[in-house]
Amino acid sequence: MRRLPIYLLIDVSESMVGENIRMMQDGLEQLVRTLRTDPYALETAHLSIIAFAGKARTLTPLVELVQFYPPRLPIGSGTSLGVAMNHLMDEIERNVQRTTAEVKGDWRPIVFLMTDGKPTDDIEAALARWTQRFASRVSLVGIGVGRHASLAALQRFTETVISLETGEPADFKRFIDWISRSVSSQSRSVSMSREGGLSLAKFDDDIMKKIDDIAKATVVDEDFVIIAGKCQTTKLPYLIKYERFSAMFNVPGMKNPGTYHLVGVYPMERDYDDLSDTRALARTISTDKLIGMPGCPHCGNRFGMALCSCGQVMCVSGPGTATCPSCDLELEMEACDDDFDVGRARG
Ligand SMILES: [Zn+2]
Ligand SMILES: [Zn+2]
Repeated sequence: MRRLPIYLLIDVSESMVGENIRMMQDGLEQLVRTLRTDPYALETAHLSIIAFAGKARTLTPLVELVQFYPPRLPIGSGTSLGVAMNHLMDEIERNVQRTTAEVKGDWRPIVFLMTDGKPTDDIEAALARWTQRFASRVSLVGIGVGRHASLAALQRFTETVISLETGEPADFKRFIDWISRSVSSQSRSVSMSREGGLSLAKFDDDIMKKIDDIAKATVVDEDFVIIAGKCQTTKLPYLIKYERFSAMFNVPGMKNPGTYHLVGVYPMERDYDDLSDTRALARTISTDKLIGMPGCPHCGNRFGMALCSCGQVMCVSGPGTATCPSCDLELEMEACDDDFDVGRARG
């Protein structure tokens, strides 16, 4: 049987932490539920989920719908689009059957690539490989989620770039519904043995925009600051998320527009490190810009933002001795009112 391979390449960088990753997780469940009710999709569509942050990982290898269970989405540091595209191309090379003189291979694969940020790696080598060997036989739909997505980078890989400007769960559901309908319509099209083009479902204009004009696709300043900490007690990572004040409330004449308010602190699993970029943090932010200090979500230590001289943010219970979970240095913690600079995660 000829399969219709569908790849979801999902950006799970730190900016996705909290509500976004939950929406995406629910979205995967919704997608599978919907597609399983479609006899055409059930017959031909095969689904694979690849997550990427600083590194890329196949969470679910290409599998038919009846056997597909939505994986738990991890979080990592960085947005390595080049690494992700290379990983995808390796997967396609390994797992998609090409048509030869003897065998009819799989149908043309469709890739839905979702990202909410800017690439933090060099994409040129991956782009050259894609253009030479994949662009003509794989349909790629680039989806920029939110206002910080770099549509320009997506546009270098594909002409089909969509901007999804939403943070609302209801809108996100409609977007997932659009993916389901696109997969359904493509399944139907190949079931009637029609080769060739990609038949996406009609765009939902309220929440999606097809980007043709690069001038409109500018990346705005970031509204979030993410700090990666490590629990002294459990050595597990956690993420502290702040949102720019003006992004939440539009207060005219506000005194300090450069400040960020605490949104939440999120415990991460050990696989956060597996998907993260190991390069040193490039940017810092002064704590006087950050309003609200969280505790540790793993062990309940009261202070989630103590800083070791190695640069690691860690949790402490209060003044006294502490051990850095990263470099094992013994530290004498004392209360301090001075502001200090902490490294920002790559996002
Ligand atoms: Zn802790
Ligand atoms: Zn340290």
